[in-house]
Amino acid sequence: MTVETQPAAFLGHGSPMNAIEHNRYTDAWRALGASVYRPRAVLAVSAHWFIQSTVVTAMARPRTIHDFYGFPDALFAVDYPAPGSPELAEEVADIAKPTWVGLDHDGWGLDHGTWSVLCHVFPDADIPVVQLSISTLAAFDHHVELGARLAPLRQRGVLIVASGNVVHNLGRLDPRRPEDGFDWAHRFDEAAGSALTGAPASVAGLVDHPDYPAAVPTPEHFIPLLYLAGVAEASGEPVETLARGYALGSLSMSAYAVGAAASAPSGGGPAGELPDPSEVPPEDTNA
Ligand code: ZN
Repeated sequence: MTVETQPAAFLGHGSPMNAIEHNRYTDAWRALGASVYRPRAVLAVSAHWFIQSTVVTAMARPRTIHDFYGFPDALFAVDYPAPGSPELAEEVADIAKPTWVGLDHDGWGLDHGTWSVLCHVFPDADIPVVQLSISTLAAFDHHVELGARLAPLRQRGVLIVASGNVVHNLGRLDPRRPEDGFDWAHRFDEAAGSALTGAPASVAGLVDHPDYPAAVPTPEHFIPLLYLAGVAEASGEPVETLARGYALGSLSMSAYAVGAAASAPSGGGPAGELPDPSEVPPEDTNA
């Protein structure tokens, strides 16, 4: 089998409802999947596994975790039965050295940060997936460095998908702005886009941006962007924009990639089909 170099992407996942809806963001995720040679496996870095160590799923059959509440039954019925890859888990642990990465054989699985986007990128769920946790204890620079160390996996046929949101403030969701962002959200999202596409490693310095406290009240959704920054820094390849946009005032849906097909759609398509804002419950239980 020919191993083609795979892209790496950061996908702003937004509401878990995006898993079962179709809008210009999910279209961009699908376009990414459709544009690549079939990868050997996917390495996912999800905002929703934010724990005190760096661990990678190493089970043959990761479960689909429904880590949210207050959503329709249809969302709880989603199963993403992609196989795991114990072999890739070992490779991740090896290539990450000297960062210690533990092997998780039965604790976690694929949370909705991973499956709500992968169910669009690879709807058939037939490509093995391993998920990497995000350490709460590591500095931003460490996450960028770890991303850079993982970058060579792309040449081994591994697609890296980091899933979070550049702007993510659940406390300031505004149903009157279903497809728009507050001014501070625009400012921070645009600053992050400029940093990522200009000097990728500089995204770690956004912690000093005046809008950081509003845009990133907790860091778990922002940190996945640091992994793509590390990959971009290591590869020297340009960062492409897959989608830009906002939801409910205080979320940005920006998506970026390194090494993806230039044909991937950018923002500006038809309005997204977000759920009725009056019915949008808190996105998750651990943000
Ligand atoms: Zn989330």
